[in-house]
Amino acid sequence: MIFNKLVIASANAGKLREFESLLAHLPLDISAQPLNLNVEETGATFAENARLKAQAVAIATKQWALADDSGLSVDALGGDPGIHSARYAATDFDRINKLLNELEKALKTNSSYNRKAEFVAALAIANPAGDIILEAQGSCSGEILIEARGDEGFGYDPIFLIPELGLSYAEIDKETKATYGHRGKAFKKLLPKLELLLGINPAAM
Ligand code: IMP
Repeated sequence: MIFNKLVIASANAGKLREFESLLAHLPLDISAQPLNLNVEETGATFAENARLKAQAVAIATKQWALADDSGLSVDALGGDPGIHSARYAATDFDRINKLLNELEKALKTNSSYNRKAEFVAALAIANPAGDIILEAQGSCSGEILIEARGDEGFGYDPIFLIPELGLSYAEIDKETKATYGHRGKAFKKLLPKLELLLGINPAAM
């Protein structure tokens, strides 16, 4: 099972940066998926979409592949944008504005003032034959800010507040996001099994 190359099944530069950092201590040669590869996300859940992406990229590249399907689910919007987070609008700027507008509209008609939201990441690792070998899911509960704050990160980071830190995802460094964030938490669950696959004995490191 031991392998030394891993393709990240994503074209999202923000995700790629986070995975490069999360995987940095492992003896893996990391690359991004080929630019011309576009996998349709037809699944009904984050986990299904992560599997679809890991399988398709592993088969296309004949390499081990790690996929992440993630998104932001807002309580007052009935869980939207959820698995449609990437397709919610054309750019990060438009996605943030649309979400803030939709939330303000919803809060005007709702009886309670609820800005709660959850980021979820489902991870899947496939072998070169496209079999799913590892899976894990992580989440981070938070709140949608009234306006964007911070310059770090990507996507919806500037409007997602981690209440226990009083900071948005865009106001924390990558080590803090790895600890508190949905992707970091999912990766933490995957890591011991990934180390086993790689023949690493963590106790000896
Ligand atoms: P997908 O997993 O490729 O379908 O895309 C997930 C979308 O959710 C991204 O394009 C971002 O808009 C958003 N997203 C996922 N994770 C994060 C994050 O850590 N910060 C900000 N936005 C995120």
